[in-house]
Amino acid sequence: ASKAGGRGQYRFYSSDLANDARRQREIGEELADAIVNDELTMHYQPIVRSTDHKVIAFEALMRWDHPELGAIGPGTFITVAEEINLISRISEWSLRRACTDAMQWPGDIRVSVNISAQQFFAGGLPSLVATILDETGLRANRLELEITEGVFMGESSMVDAIFAKLTKMGVRLSLDDFGTGYSSLAYLRRAPFEKIKIDQNFVRGCCEEGNPNAAIITAIISLAHALDMQTTAEGVEAMDELRLLLGLGATQIQGFIFSRPVCQDVVMEKLASGDFIYEPVGPAKHRSD
Ligand code: C2E
Ligand code: MG
Ligand code: MG
Ligand code: MG
Repeated sequence: ASKAGGRGQYRFYSSDLANDARRQREIGEELADAIVNDELTMHYQPIVRSTDHKVIAFEALMRWDHPELGAIGPGTFITVAEEINLISRISEWSLRRACTDAMQWPGDIRVSVNISAQQFFAGGLPSLVATILDETGLRANRLELEITEGVFMGESSMVDAIFAKLTKMGVRLSLDDFGTGYSSLAYLRRAPFEKIKIDQNFVRGCCEEGNPNAAIITAIISLAHALDMQTTAEGVEAMDELRLLLGLGATQIQGFIFSRPVCQDVVMEKLASGDFIYEPVGPAKHRSD
């Protein structure tokens, strides 16, 4: 049903919204089965070191190969999972899948797993992480958790306690999507983040004349540097973006310019050849379309 009137509410009822709502309900109903039926998959995207383009970590990005609806992105189904109380099972699945796959990778290449604010507070995250590390045998310092600013909306003593448990285990923490939510610089003091991820929102357009993104990126990198934190620039697609970010001192780069997210088989092929270096391949400038 349409929401009646009111500021910030739907101004008119459209059949698209109806279809959206129906689709959301369908997705919710099938998500529980999807976990059991093995329809969820994890893809991995390299995060490379700025100095030599050597892969130091892969970000785990979840996908759902739905038998009828096709590939569904995490943007759609994570929110649904949160609404219907499936989020703990999603956390367990994603951590187990990512840590199991990372155990196959050579050396000390890390895996970086996204944890939504709801997952962060779902209860027992630190003990779930400990269980999965124990079960898979992955060393804690090879696991990075990507947390968003949203967690700071929670009760502060609880937030601090969860961070304390995770860091005591030796798990690394990154602040994802920095600057895109209701950020406060004070948050940076609250948790021992090793790394700030510069959102692709700031990377997009950063090379255009008069675009403020380059100034924002400069400020984030300088802040991170002063706080002894690393920076990963996300969504880097074009050569001019790569050049600018390297020049500004981003310590790590992630984006289609090095690789799209790929399945574990493709990761293993690359690493098995002994090649840990990614070559940048992309347009000279970002194609705006
Ligand atoms: P994120 O954590 O900020 O992940 C980066 C997103 O940017 C990914 O989208 C990735 O595919 C995309 N990306 C990377 N490089 C480029 C590029 O050069 N150009 C463009 N246009 N995009 C690029 P994806 O996989 O659709 O994931 C979207 C969001 O869904 C993620 O944003 C993350 O917040 C969430 N997500 C993904 N997997 C999981 C998961 O396992 N658990 C949770 N809680 N959230 C997840
Ligand atoms: Mg992320
Ligand atoms: Mg991000
Ligand atoms: Mg993002």
